[in-house]
Amino acid sequence: MVFSKICATCDGAGRRTSGRCPVCGGQGRLVRSEALPISVPPGVVDGSRLRLAGSGHAGAHGGRPGDLYVTVHVQPHHVFRRHGDDLLCELPVGVHEAVLGARIDVPTLEGVAKLRIPPGTQSGHRLRLAEQGLPTATGGRGDLLFDVLLVLPDQLDERSKELMREFGQRNGGDVRRWANEAAKRTT
Ligand SMILES: [Zn+2]
Repeated sequence: MVFSKICATCDGAGRRTSGRCPVCGGQGRLVRSEALPISVPPGVVDGSRLRLAGSGHAGAHGGRPGDLYVTVHVQPHHVFRRHGDDLLCELPVGVHEAVLGARIDVPTLEGVAKLRIPPGTQSGHRLRLAEQGLPTATGGRGDLLFDVLLVLPDQLDERSKELMREFGQRNGGDVRRWANEAAKRTT
């Protein structure tokens, strides 16, 4: 922070018994650059203005110092997106986990938590860890939300392909039921 401070040599008076204060040239104030610790309240919103009473420019001739206003800009996070008091996160899930269900480790603000993937979870499903989001104005917490993103293996060995073919024969019938029904209506 760059701001003016009271001149310590003359205590802001601008004069000494010998005449004008030589350090501040009679201004009673000096320009100083200083690092200030700021406490940022939890859950602060982008664009918020914090007021630090008495940390602004020094008053003229030893007067009361003004206040310092700091505008907060919240940087985007590489994992979590903010949605009000909730946090959103894209969660890659393997096909076998989505079909059979699983308990997996997920990132939270505090570290790692277990999240249950219910059997039959579809791509785009939103799973929730209650009260693991941001602090709310009323003293509670928002939720931590995970949007399921199904991830397919990019390479399959022969045995896996065999299993997938068999899986398709057993289960491939109604993936596009809506499309098949639409096709029947038009023919
Ligand atoms: Zn001075």
